[in-house]
Amino acid sequence: MQTITCDICKKKVDNSITGRTFFYVGPHSMCEPCKDNLEYSVKPNVRAKEPFSYEWYFKLLSDSLGKAVQKGRI
Ligand SMILES: [Zn+2]
Repeated sequence: MQTITCDICKKKVDNSITGRTFFYVGPHSMCEPCKDNLEYSVKPNVRAKEPFSYEWYFKLLSDSLGKAVQKGRI
């Protein structure tokens, strides 16, 4: 267990548990609220995607996360 800083909101997550309270996508990492916001923000694109693939989904998440990190918000 360790303290990790979210790349988007810059909040520290104490006792972070990867995959439960802290998430890595590509080169970036984010806390749970930011992950929820990010997933919510890509939802319209995900619904419209046909056929759906996880590879595509993770690329979308990773691209969106990269932009969010640059802006400092989602
Ligand atoms: Zn965050």
